[in-house]
Amino acid sequence: MMWYTHVVFGVLFYLTAILLGAPMNPLDIGIAAFGALMPDIDHPKSYISTKLPGGNVMPRFVEHRGVTHTVEAALLMTALVGGLAYWITNSYWPAVAFLIGYVSHLFADTLTVSGIKWSRFSSFHPRGKIRTGTRGEGVVLIGVTFLTVMLFAYIVIPEETSKNLGWVVLVAFIATFAIIGKKLKRLK
Ligand SMILES: [Zn+2]
Repeated sequence: MMWYTHVVFGVLFYLTAILLGAPMNPLDIGIAAFGALMPDIDHPKSYISTKLPGGNVMPRFVEHRGVTHTVEAALLMTALVGGLAYWITNSYWPAVAFLIGYVSHLFADTLTVSGIKWSRFSSFHPRGKIRTGTRGEGVVLIGVTFLTVMLFAYIVIPEETSKNLGWVVLVAFIATFAIIGKKLKRLK
């Protein structure tokens, strides 16, 4: 999946956690998005590798969609990033947000035709039907962005959203294309 699809998946997964009781904190939502980008640190041309200092180091040692795309890596990276965040903020929610974002990436990549191996200790290798960078990914991106906007509306203004659901759906639909319209045009 493209990096922006991963960002939306990360945010959607964390908003779901907010619905289940996690605190509504923009910083944690950002950290979930960051966690959702992190597994692709194994690819030299990925968004995260080009933005993060030292991001070109990892791809020399590991194969793409290999070891960083596992539950073990999710836990290890969460211990590192979440531990650092806990030290700074004294809250464990950034770690939870990072882990949720990271796992959302594994889930999103599972939807692609090549899939991923979820663990080094298991041969479990589920695959989906989506080809990265194609219209198929576009359809997923539209659906996930729409759900994210709807969920965000419900979390911020629950009563108004339930009362005027038709309008919120319409606005969410327009917002979806405002947010990802340019990205959709780039898909093949
Ligand atoms: Zn990936």
